[in-house]
Amino acid sequence: MTETGATQAAGTALGVPFTLTSGVERMFPTLTPAQIERIAAHGHARRVRSGEVLVQPGDQIVPFFVVTAGGVEIVRPSSASETLVVLYGPGQFTGEVNMLSGRPALLRVRGSQAGEVIEVDREQLLALVQTDSQLSEVIMRAFILRRVELITHGLGDVVLVGSNYCSETLRVKEFLTRNGHPYAYVDLDRDDGVQDLLDRFHIGGADVPVLICRGEVVLRSPTNRQIAGCLGFNDAIDQTHIRDVVIVGAGPAGLAAAVYAASEGLDVLVLETNSPGGQAGSSSKIENYLGFPTGISGQALAGRAYTQAQKFGAQVMITKDAKSLVCDRKPYAIEIDDDVRVLARTVIIATGAAYRKPSIENLPQFENAGVYYGATFMEAQLCRGEDALVVGGGNSAGQAAVFLAQTAKHVHMLVRAKGLAETMSRYLIRRIEQNPTIALRTNTEIVALEGNNHLERVRWRDHRAGNTETHDIRHVFLMTGAVPGTKWIEGCVALDAKGFIKTGPDLSPQDLTAAHWPLTRVPHLLETSLPGVFAVGDVRGGNIKRVASAVGEGSIAISFVHQALSE
Ligand SMILES: Cc1cc2nc3c(=O)[nH]c(=O)nc-3n(C[C@H](O)[C@H](O)[C@H](O)COP(=O)(O)OP(=O)(O)OC[C@H]3O[C@@H](n4cnc5c(N)ncnc54)[C@H](O)[C@@H]3O)c2cc1C
Repeated sequence: MTETGATQAAGTALGVPFTLTSGVERMFPTLTPAQIERIAAHGHARRVRSGEVLVQPGDQIVPFFVVTAGGVEIVRPSSASETLVVLYGPGQFTGEVNMLSGRPALLRVRGSQAGEVIEVDREQLLALVQTDSQLSEVIMRAFILRRVELITHGLGDVVLVGSNYCSETLRVKEFLTRNGHPYAYVDLDRDDGVQDLLDRFHIGGADVPVLICRGEVVLRSPTNRQIAGCLGFNDAIDQTHIRDVVIVGAGPAGLAAAVYAASEGLDVLVLETNSPGGQAGSSSKIENYLGFPTGISGQALAGRAYTQAQKFGAQVMITKDAKSLVCDRKPYAIEIDDDVRVLARTVIIATGAAYRKPSIENLPQFENAGVYYGATFMEAQLCRGEDALVVGGGNSAGQAAVFLAQTAKHVHMLVRAKGLAETMSRYLIRRIEQNPTIALRTNTEIVALEGNNHLERVRWRDHRAGNTETHDIRHVFLMTGAVPGTKWIEGCVALDAKGFIKTGPDLSPQDLTAAHWPLTRVPHLLETSLPGVFAVGDVRGGNIKRVASAVGEGSIAISFVHQALSE
């Protein structure tokens, strides 16, 4: 790895041994004496010896250090050697985003020479970034840029061994990426010296994907939950005390609710089945979200929101499903996997909706092996120079077709209806019509998928012409709508005819009578037929299925949560 001019220019206190992708002054700022004094009020001075280890990878308790004399180095240990990541001098500080979430340390922190630091514990650091906006900006920006750098260079506590031809490898990569966790990737089919690694950890080719956590634990074809467990994603979260609000789902609606609730002083727990970001997290580019004139990827938006929620103290449990809601008594109880219940004074349901799938028997065989439900940069790379098929006539299908047309040879677009006008935004229809790479086929339906380990061929039926065609297409993107995530609340709240949750003025007197609504007031906007339980985003009946409406509903629900808490 080489040093950039910017890194060298930063002076002798900084020994970053890899090419930085962002400005070094912003990533490794030097604090002013006045700023250091404000931080000192939140911590205590501590002498450090040369070589003294302050934090080990995997440590749960990770303080924040500001160097006031001498130096502190960050290193990544491995079985054979260690890599120096960065060297901090006086006025500089340690840490990255894990310090906000309370997740275990990724790297070792050690005194590089005798000196002194100010040590601040995580609670005090959170208090500092929540109350001192100037320091918050400096610290949060540095933390986020450092995490981006760790991800870019695969510097962390995880090595993933896999194959780009293996759908399970793709799943693990996606889970780590969407959780913003840095990992080094070893490709069985491409990387030299892979046999040494396989021998050292007794891994066979059939075991992939294999995840090596902290050079110690070897997980063969792990589930997302096993990965989260091994990396300690939820270890710092207390599941036993009663929360002011439990938010179920960490899509845009749930994350917005978490940011507003935590920033307004509520004790917030978020439960998420998979990864933060929800459907939006799989969107390659959101172009209609206010404030991003050039668009933003769903993952970038979700990553920012996730960090923002953690900054205000919201806790987010990853790979924890809400299995059921115990709604006949207060506080409400939400049963999560492994028979644990979390207690909540109020609940926000933000479980969104899941993709509708065409009834093709062998469809699951090709999921992530040629059939995808999102078109991000990762999938676009897979079908570079090949034909791709997008099924669906809504905005997400239109965006996927336009996005994939940048890299694919041809994009075929299948729509069951006779046109796009009723289901897609006008600007997207225009882009599709004007793009010579996209062929739109209306009145047409996908009927079969063929292949062995990977999708090879697709059959579709043109209902108007009355014929069936087979095409050699290895990549299909299904964008055909969604069903609401309401199974876990069955019998607790009133639903509309399509299974979406009824709220506020949509609840009829009959709904309220059937639900035994106990209060003299009518339900608040966004409140369900159960007092103190709210529904926001795509899961709510009548919701406009857009990121902005999900975010808006998640945010405003919090003012009603305050009212419900005070009742
Ligand atoms: C590919 C694609 C592109 C899109 N592009 C745009 C766009 O450009 N602009 C736009 O405005 N909108 C876009 N949308 C729509 C937008 O993403 C959704 O409207 C928005 O994500 C809805 O947010 P939500 O939080 O309500 O639900 P979701 O995003 O669906 O999130 C729900 C979350 O809840 C979790 N969950 C579900 N059940 C449980 C449970 N029992 N326990 C715990 N967690 C649970 C899920 O895992 C998920 O993370 C797009 C959608 C897709 C699929």
